[in-house]
Amino acid sequence: MYSIIVAPIDLSAPESSERILDRAMFFLQNSQASIYFLTVAAVTTDKSSLEELRTQLQQFISTKILENTDRTFAEVGVGKPSKAIIEFAQAKKADCVLVGAHRGGGLLGLNSLGSTAAIVAAQASSDVCVVK
Ligand code: ADP
Repeated sequence: MYSIIVAPIDLSAPESSERILDRAMFFLQNSQASIYFLTVAAVTTDKSSLEELRTQLQQFISTKILENTDRTFAEVGVGKPSKAIIEFAQAKKADCVLVGAHRGGGLLGLNSLGSTAAIVAAQASSDVCVVK
């Protein structure tokens, strides 16, 4: 079982984010894993907007995750999403990244991986679970 999971959440894509949240809840309920939810913003984002994003992420998480909240964390990063996700996961010594296959609601079809998902799956040093 995994002990440190990073779950990247794009708040502008609620459908795929909800699926990631569902999987995260499964790991929380069935293991002792800690889960770091991570939203990545553009480098130009100002400090108060980053704080606002963290609040939004926290609220999004709390729509489903009501228990084991001592093992869930809401974090905000900046930069290119794939790079920020990979570096964050390394810094936390994560053993799994729970990434959405793509941001849309499955309209691209099951055979495609989004650009962030593809880079994270290929380059993360941990296991990667691609949520479809
Ligand atoms: P697409 O190329 O179809 O838009 P992506 O590969 O960008 O799809 O998105 C797939 C997954 O990557 C998302 O479900 C999410 O887990 C992660 N992701 C993408 N952008 C961000 C972001 N800005 N912050 C956090 N996670 C992101």
